[in-house]
Amino acid sequence: MAEAGDRRQDLDVAIVGAGVSGVYAGWRLLAAGKAKSVTIFEQSERIGGRLLSLEPPGMPGVFCELGGMRFTSNQPLVVGLIKELELATHPFPVEEGENINYLRGTHVRQQEFGDPTKKLPYDLDWAEQGMNPDDLLAYAVEQVIPGATQMSTAPLRKFLERYKLDGRHVYDWGFWNLLARGLSHEGYELARASGGYDTPLLNWNALDTISLNFDLAAGVTYSAVDGGYQSVPLTVAEKFEKLGGKIELSQHLDSFDVDADGKVVLHLSDPDAHAKHEEVRAGALVLAMPRRSLELISPTGPVLDRSVPGVRDLIESVTPIPLFKLCIAYPYPWWESVGVTQGRSQTDLPIRQCYYWATGRPHGGNPDNRKSVLLATYDDGLNVDFWNGYSNPKHHPPFETVEEDELVAAHPASELWNKYKPTAPMIAEADRQLREMHGVRVAPKPYAAAYIDWGVDPYGGGVNFWNIHARSSQVIPSMTNPVPAVPVYVCGEAYSNGQGWVEGALETAEIVLQEHFGLSAPDWAS
Ligand code: FAD
Repeated sequence: MAEAGDRRQDLDVAIVGAGVSGVYAGWRLLAAGKAKSVTIFEQSERIGGRLLSLEPPGMPGVFCELGGMRFTSNQPLVVGLIKELELATHPFPVEEGENINYLRGTHVRQQEFGDPTKKLPYDLDWAEQGMNPDDLLAYAVEQVIPGATQMSTAPLRKFLERYKLDGRHVYDWGFWNLLARGLSHEGYELARASGGYDTPLLNWNALDTISLNFDLAAGVTYSAVDGGYQSVPLTVAEKFEKLGGKIELSQHLDSFDVDADGKVVLHLSDPDAHAKHEEVRAGALVLAMPRRSLELISPTGPVLDRSVPGVRDLIESVTPIPLFKLCIAYPYPWWESVGVTQGRSQTDLPIRQCYYWATGRPHGGNPDNRKSVLLATYDDGLNVDFWNGYSNPKHHPPFETVEEDELVAAHPASELWNKYKPTAPMIAEADRQLREMHGVRVAPKPYAAAYIDWGVDPYGGGVNFWNIHARSSQVIPSMTNPVPAVPVYVCGEAYSNGQGWVEGALETAEIVLQEHFGLSAPDWAS
């Protein structure tokens, strides 16, 4: 990492944010020879932003993903980049027949959804009965926009841009309002509860929600990176530094301005050291960050000042979505006793989704000792508030590792893992709900855990969704350079066609690189 003194010279490009879009933009700029001096400033002490991969104690080589965790085979930039970086990957199972749906106090296996003789605890319309809940959504959309579910990617977006329902464009509709036309309320409740998330089915821009949800055409598969998804930005950052790029951690961008020579002047400070502000000059500034982070920068200067026409509307065209993740490690995979080993199970309890993450090899001479970790809770919306009731360490004791065996001794909790330590009552409650959703009364005590609430600053939410009436096709290009006369650019997941995905973060980085810095598309994009 660079020393503060190294940056006295004017930079060609300053990038703020060492999430995946920031390090990617820096590396591409240097690799293409479009800039000589590039420095990335990051307010936290780590590279990766919303990619955060942690090894649980006692499970070396296993990475729990507190942020982004998987990619799909139809994401050209991500798939190409991972190949280019030579990172090993593995399949990421999501929906297995034996996975459990514990809804309204009833256990239903995933494979039972298609069985018309299985009584579900929902009073569905005749036409909705015997349908897989994923198909319920497609059924609803097809009722109101015939033909929409037969398309994907660019043709689908083009079709939806032109389509009108009751004389209103699809982007002027809320997705929830639209679903209410095509689905019974009970059907909607089933789709929401069994989908694992609450917020995607609420009132976001119907055009973008449909485009994103129905992009998963038949044959699309999920994969994950063996060394954790954070290894993508970490590897890119290494390559960036090898090309002479510099990364300065603990450097918060407080505000920026433009001087008489047209250079962007960054005002930076160390958030922990309360150090006085330092100034850095650059020919261009790339803000690689989401909406909430932009809003935390002082609203002054030629771009963010509230008097600059249009920019606030652009910034406010998306909304950050609360997301919460909690990983819990157990001495052995007790859930296997009810026949689940991989994929995920869902419930309407506040834990919402549980992924059977990884199971280690037997150890200590006992075949039952197989340390195992669950992504025990992955929830959004109001459920995040449920867990916040247990999150304050001032009022609740921290959860301590209770099992100290040879594996944990050889691979203890890292400093980073301990930074995301939950409280003891949070784990007790999550453990109780896990046993309830699996219908298991007796299970071993959890021995380690880590959690995150992405609602905290500077993220304000885990992902961002387009608001009703926002026209993403117009906002995206405008947002990459909000004031055309000023060399300040914005990239990242928030203002993209791939919200909630790394692909979206790279997509807007590419728009900035190609449209504003004159780079060609990467030849490795698949
Ligand atoms: P970020 O990663 O948010 O990076 C922004 C950076 O800017 C941060 O490091 C921040 O500290 C820094 N910063 C902000 N303000 C300042 C400032 N003023 N000064 C200095 N630095 C600043 N994607 C997938 O592809 N697959 C998934 O399975 C998936 N699941 C997800 C699950 C969760 C729980 C979450 C939270 C996200 C998930 N995503 C997933 C989304 C994915 O993680 C993001 O799209 C991507 O990591 C965003 O990268 P970014 O560069 O746009 O922004």
